Amino acid sequence: MAVIGIDLGTTNSAVAYLKGEKPEIIPNTEGGRTTPSVFQLSINDEIIIGQNAKNAMPGMPDRTATEVKRLMGTDEMVMVGGQSYRPETISAHILMHLKKSAEDYLGEMVTEAVITVPAYFNDAQRKATQKAGEIAGLKVERIINEPTAAAIAYGLENIDKNQHILVYDLGGGTFDVSVVEIFEGVVEVKASAGDNNLGGVDFDNALTDWIIENFKQTDGIDLFSFGTPEEINQRKARIKLESENIKKSLSSQTNVNINIPFIAIHNNAPVSVNMSITREEFDALIKDMALKTLVEVDKALEDSRLGVSDIDEVVLIGGSTRVPLIQQLVEDKFGKKAKKDINPDEAVALGAAVQAGIKTGQIDTSKGIMVIDVCPYTLGTEVVRQIGGQTVPGFFDPIIPRNSTIPITESKRYYTVSDNQTSVNVNVFQGDNQYTDQNIFLSDFILEGIPAGPRGQEAIDVKFSYDINGTLQVEATIVSTGRKASAIVKTQAGTMTEQEVSAARAQVESDYEKSELYQEVKSVITRGERMLNSTEGLEKEKLMSALQNIKIALEKNDRALVQKYEEELTDLLIELV
Ligand code: AMP
Repeated sequence: MAVIGIDLGTTNSAVAYLKGEKPEIIPNTEGGRTTPSVFQLSINDEIIIGQNAKNAMPGMPDRTATEVKRLMGTDEMVMVGGQSYRPETISAHILMHLKKSAEDYLGEMVTEAVITVPAYFNDAQRKATQKAGEIAGLKVERIINEPTAAAIAYGLENIDKNQHILVYDLGGGTFDVSVVEIFEGVVEVKASAGDNNLGGVDFDNALTDWIIENFKQTDGIDLFSFGTPEEINQRKARIKLESENIKKSLSSQTNVNINIPFIAIHNNAPVSVNMSITREEFDALIKDMALKTLVEVDKALEDSRLGVSDIDEVVLIGGSTRVPLIQQLVEDKFGKKAKKDINPDEAVALGAAVQAGIKTGQIDTSKGIMVIDVCPYTLGTEVVRQIGGQTVPGFFDPIIPRNSTIPITESKRYYTVSDNQTSVNVNVFQGDNQYTDQNIFLSDFILEGIPAGPRGQEAIDVKFSYDINGTLQVEATIVSTGRKASAIVKTQAGTMTEQEVSAARAQVESDYEKSELYQEVKSVITRGERMLNSTEGLEKEKLMSALQNIKIALEKNDRALVQKYEEELTDLLIELV
């Protein structure tokens, strides 16, 4: 049974498998090598994923969800067609679509996958991705970092060279940079840094704002200031989609015309956008964001204790590295041409497929490739400090320093801070600031049952274990009694409980089957609905009832019943012509 590698992207996703010892992209059911990460509910409440959903988006922005990856690991709900979804559930639908495409292509069931995440994704975001996989009916064999996956794909092609590479990964919604050493078949990540909220969609947004502002100045109309909320949303969606196309054109042209006909009706007259933008103007819009990525590059270099001259190759990954300004800034920084022979849209999925092959034994690590990764951020706990005789809370005490090689387990010993203290609240944070309120809160739990005594008498060991999937487990033990706190871990924001996952799994499966079933009988229903206009009396009633029956059967997701009523409806249609 094949294990697939999935790059679940903010704007696009890709899936690959291992053919022999080489990874290959699996095209989706429409033949595309990547699939837009777009989820839509059609007016029939049918779920549509991918290019078709993206194409239809400007007409139905309220029924379309995009960039959901940015919400992973949060409790923010996404409203689509009046229904509210968790980000994991929408991601699960995208994964399900990729899984089904892989099954169609490979002609076998696919139940396991390696899924990639940005290196800089935190614990909650990783867990949410894992849950999305489970909801889609996939056993998530491993979660691996996107730039690491790309380095694996690169490493596979360049296994004989000993070198340091820098993977610069600017995708649709996230930026990652990793410094990687490749030596004798080992791909060892030295350091990673990044920004979870920086990518091509921010370039699109900047361009959308520019178009609106420019149009206001030249034509005196604020396109977002009139009409119903739905009309404004549709306009926004159309301009944003257009912005992405213009941005892409600016990667090969230095001047692009912006023509968006009949975008609105204003004062009873149709309004069209007609202007042009130069590459220079676009570069000015994104310059600050581009420079921000270089700050992260410096951070990764510094953490790996390497300088720009130590980097033998710069590998560009992610669709947004096609932007000439990005390439120029990176190449200027390193004083050399970047490697572009590796497909920026596919490398991550290909690397994930190789990782899947390592996992299943399809790739022999003794002869082939071995991967060593890092935890890109510092993890630690909250402590109090004695300052001028006062006990001051809120200090961050690192336990796992950033860019430690994983898996890693580190412990630290702490002591009670007040007399007769019988419990301790272990607060877990991620970040590099000495104050916890400047870092990211991950979770907390309480350890109870500490024997009463003078402060400082009882010791508590806090153990952090960060595994190869990037998931963190924290355990606290009272040294004198051996009592551990594993119990009262409060539910972390942004993560679903096991029951919620099972319920969502059943729902997604049924929604998917429903839409698959719907696809199978769609043409008969459409013919029936068309014929309603040309029939009358008893015939019309019979037709209406047949249509009603099949729709109820679809609602119930009952395949046998749908097939029965499809046959009845088909017979009726033959009778009526
Ligand atoms: P990825 O998530 O790696 O597939 O990257 C997708 C992002 O790359 C999206 O924001 C795309 O708009 C962007 N992108 C794709 N092709 C180009 C191009 N030719 N020029 C600029 N950006 C592009």
